[in-house]
Amino acid sequence: MAPLEITLIVAATRRMGIGLHGTMPWTGLRKEMAYFRRVTTRTLASSGSPPNAVIMGRKTWDSIPPQFRPLKDRLNIVITRSAPAQPPSDAPATQPVRVSTLDQALAYAREHGIARVFVIGGAQIYDMAAQKATRVLLTRIERDFECDTFFPIKLEGTQSAGWTKRSRDDVRAWTGEDIEEDGQVENDTKYHFEMWERD
Ligand code: NDP
Repeated sequence: MAPLEITLIVAATRRMGIGLHGTMPWTGLRKEMAYFRRVTTRTLASSGSPPNAVIMGRKTWDSIPPQFRPLKDRLNIVITRSAPAQPPSDAPATQPVRVSTLDQALAYAREHGIARVFVIGGAQIYDMAAQKATRVLLTRIERDFECDTFFPIKLEGTQSAGWTKRSRDDVRAWTGEDIEEDGQVENDTKYHFEMWERD
């Protein structure tokens, strides 16, 4: 069986800041959140296919308001050191699957026929997935916010390890989203949707 492709999805400032005090550094980017929801939910096949998987660290899970979790219409997998020894064969829809390694998360997704796997943060789990990831969907936030948590992968510059920014058409084709050339502005905050892939 072909290995699952892993896509990281993240919103980050120019300095690659992603979090502050256990939550997002910004508020009110509703269209950005809607993009995240659509892209992580949209499956490859039209109907009858299993949902996509979203893999996250326990702290990111905790940061989601209880009324919005598990993230609906997606298989939620949480990485934590306090996971049961064996993930359940079928998790109840109201609970995430808890595992202690990324490999267990991927094995679970594979066993359940999942086609698209997204790693949705935070920094510790992006770092864990860095070597295996083939794609990063980056929302580039063009404003400085105070941050204490940073995206750990260098996509550009001298320390980058073979990542290439794809065209807007490529982003459209992969995400199914109509990406505006000049980006979006919400709450005085400008941002762009980008896609980076390994060479
Ligand atoms: P994470 O969400 O990456 O979760 C960390 C937890 O993951 C650890 O406490 C541990 O859970 C588990 N974990 C980490 N390493 C391992 C390991 N080797 N084995 C097993 N379990 C492990 O936390 P971060 O603090 O890095 O990121 C959270 C921040 O990121 C928040 O501010 C959040 O809002 C932000 N964020 C921002 C995003 C963005 O797009 N801007 C996206 C996602 C998050 P346990 O302690 O239970 O053992």
